[in-house]
Amino acid sequence: MNNAAQIDASLLKKVFHELRLAQRVLIISHIRPDGDAVGSLIGLGLSLHNLGKDVQMVISDGCPEIFRHLPGSDQVKKKAEGEFDMTLVVDCSDRSRAGDALNGVSLPEVNIDHHPTNTDFGRYNLIDVSAVATAEMLGQYLPEFGFPIPKQVADALLFGMITDTLGFRTNNMTPRAMKTAAMLMEAGGDLPGLYKKGLLNRSYAAARYWGAGLTNLERDGRIIWASLSLQDRSAVSYPGRDDADLINFLSTIDAIDVVMMFIEQEKGQVKVSWRAAPTYDVSQVAMQFGGGGHKAAAGASIEGGLKEVQSKVINTTKLILEIK
Ligand code: 5GP
Ligand code: MN
Repeated sequence: MNNAAQIDASLLKKVFHELRLAQRVLIISHIRPDGDAVGSLIGLGLSLHNLGKDVQMVISDGCPEIFRHLPGSDQVKKKAEGEFDMTLVVDCSDRSRAGDALNGVSLPEVNIDHHPTNTDFGRYNLIDVSAVATAEMLGQYLPEFGFPIPKQVADALLFGMITDTLGFRTNNMTPRAMKTAAMLMEAGGDLPGLYKKGLLNRSYAAARYWGAGLTNLERDGRIIWASLSLQDRSAVSYPGRDDADLINFLSTIDAIDVVMMFIEQEKGQVKVSWRAAPTYDVSQVAMQFGGGGHKAAAGASIEGGLKEVQSKVINTTKLILEIK
């Protein structure tokens, strides 16, 4: 666990000094990317590009269709090519979250993240668990060290903050995050437009996919869960491998402590997501299954069939969180 209360100011200065000197920069974010992964990647990438650096932005799964509205998203590649002076990994709590993108990189120079489960896998580890998003960290650091924030960078970082906080309403919100978001708006960030695209708009297929999940919603006391099979996905032609954010809707249900979502994947894997009320720490449960995340929101990819993983995870969750 990573509980560093504050990032060492001299380490931060050193990292951004070296970044200033680097010409060929590789930036990587995590597999099955969310808005903060893509926003942080593009925000940092375009800021460095603006300074004339050669930047490659890599996510081994590529950039999902739903984030293609962000300027710069067309530059996100699945694989890096060539040599680099510096490699930075953003919003990744452990090395394996980078997927194949870190193949051939023995030790990434910089690991920038806000997950308490971060394993400090970089040479320099900038981990701030009080940040609501990795994009918030970048929103503080870039101006502090004189890196530019043109509108496209502001949009990308604001998008990361909006999506990771579900529109500035998660329990980890801080006045500092609001100030950083305000600065990003002043730099041209389109708050209402990004909010709509990131949190409100959904496709017809996603709405029907929700229908499948809601149909099999189950409850045991103060725990609820739902699953989505490969069959559910193909029946409605939903293009993603995620739950179309259904879990965040389930988290609005009254008198529930823990919500879980089980999403069947190809190759005998199940993606599990947890959301919990304050006082519970579901990242501890996710870590038991090789995953990670935050106290209130965590995830893991587990080998096995849907039913088998479901019963194992429900039992372990109850056990660890001491829920009857
Ligand atoms: P979600 O359930 O929305 O996929 O993810 C919730 C939180 O858990 C996010 O902070 C995300 O980064 C983290 N998370 C999700 N899946 C994994 C995983 O397989 N491994 C790790 N380390 N973290 C995960
Ligand atoms: Mn994040």
